[in-house]
Amino acid sequence: MKFQPTASHFINGAYVEDTSGAPIDVIYPATGNVIARLHSATPDIVNQALTSAKNAQADWAALSGTERGRVLRRAADIMRERNRELSILETHDTGKPLQETLVADATSGADALEYFGGLAASLTGEHIPLGGGDFVYTIREALGVCVGIGAWNYPTQIACWKGAPALACGNTMVFKPSETTPLSALQVAEILIEAGAPKGVYNVIQGYGDVGASLVTDPRVAKVSLTGSVPTGRKVYAAAADGMKHVTMELGGKSPMIVFDDADIENAVSGAILGNFYSSGQVCSNGTRVFVQKGIKEAFLKRLSERLENAIIGDPLDENVNFGPMVSENQLNIALSYVEKGKADGALLVYGGTRIEGNGYYMQPTVFADVTDDMAIAREEIFGPVMSVLDFDTEQEVLARANDTEFGLAAGVFTNDLTRAHRVVAGFEAGTCYINTYNLAPVEAPFGGSKMSGVGRENSKLAINHFSEMKTVYVSMNDVEAPY
Ligand code: NAD
Repeated sequence: MKFQPTASHFINGAYVEDTSGAPIDVIYPATGNVIARLHSATPDIVNQALTSAKNAQADWAALSGTERGRVLRRAADIMRERNRELSILETHDTGKPLQETLVADATSGADALEYFGGLAASLTGEHIPLGGGDFVYTIREALGVCVGIGAWNYPTQIACWKGAPALACGNTMVFKPSETTPLSALQVAEILIEAGAPKGVYNVIQGYGDVGASLVTDPRVAKVSLTGSVPTGRKVYAAAADGMKHVTMELGGKSPMIVFDDADIENAVSGAILGNFYSSGQVCSNGTRVFVQKGIKEAFLKRLSERLENAIIGDPLDENVNFGPMVSENQLNIALSYVEKGKADGALLVYGGTRIEGNGYYMQPTVFADVTDDMAIAREEIFGPVMSVLDFDTEQEVLARANDTEFGLAAGVFTNDLTRAHRVVAGFEAGTCYINTYNLAPVEAPFGGSKMSGVGRENSKLAINHFSEMKTVYVSMNDVEAPY
């Protein structure tokens, strides 16, 4: 098989196999063909990976930040040099068009390695002067062994968004990719070794949810960073709490995008397309509830439908194609089932809605109008290319409706009224907000959710606080006063 890796797992700087683990077939979503067969980690593999990460951690943390940063920045360079090859692999793993993977996957992973590689040398504590000459200094310390657990939509990016800040701070990592897209994290592990990372600093093991669960409960693990759905997040957070472990939870959403009638319609339509159909709608922060002010509803829907005619759906390896298959038959069926729910609930199907015949897991980009707040398509995360357009009259009304959800990952507003834009954003109950654009996630900016969408932030300097902790050192310059 063309994309068969050397072995399923990468532990202590080398590929390791244990075929007694449950098989994991990797399917190319564009054809339904099996392109690799891996094996889920057995308890022995889990133990090997954690032992290797534990053994490597103290020496890695003892290097200077400059030395650790150099490794990460070299890894970033290697990723960029191999971008095409890595993108082709990512396209086979996920089905996402090469047009996207060439610019959004290994490249964003490289950005994270470069950014946190650059920060590594400047991570410090502080000096806090006290009365009488006493002072406190703080030491920023690594947490220890960190576990990363990934979703299937951005496998390379997730492996790097977790690995880069963890390693910059002097932690080591055991990363478990999604069982649906297990291939590219192995490449990240190989590249880190090639860039000079000591063995055991970044390990990858494959597996289903039970492997993730066994990592989370292991006493050797200090921190768990999960990207996944809310139901999984609840389980992982609870299990981590039992061991008082640090967590970062990057979970699902049902984010609002509000289009006021003074907005630039072309930009708003572009935002709605990016925020619903990029990666065939399989993006956590998607603005899937598009609230359009009544005055421009018809114009908005007309331009949206016209522009969707320009979607080029087909072979994801063809660089002209900009809309690929969904990641799996299961995910396709979930999305199609929501199309049926939307119809049954009385929403108006204005575009798409059907599976595209063939062996691949393709469906059309789909738009419902006249959606009301109580419909399943407006309340539940679909994680597919299904956009709900809802009407509104006033700013106050739409903000209340936008926030009326258990999720709080992202939110966006399109308007040319400057003060309204900032007022609306201030009122959003969401971790990541957009004004007159949607779904950009540069490594320099914090990314993460409020409410049920998550805990903690990835990217930016804030990620450092989630992968390190402060030791306080009180230094007395005076005699010790005791009562007797
Ligand atoms: P999922 O929750 O089914 O699985 C996520 C990962 O958790 C997988 O690796 C899985 O094997 C593992 N897992 C499952 N059960 C586990 C358990 N009990 N203990 C430990 N690990 C366990 O999610 P998915 O279907 O892979 O991904 C889609 C979801 O991810 C969507 O809800 C999406 O919104 C979310 N997501 C969030 C972000 C973000 O940054 N906020 C990014 C991408 C995807």
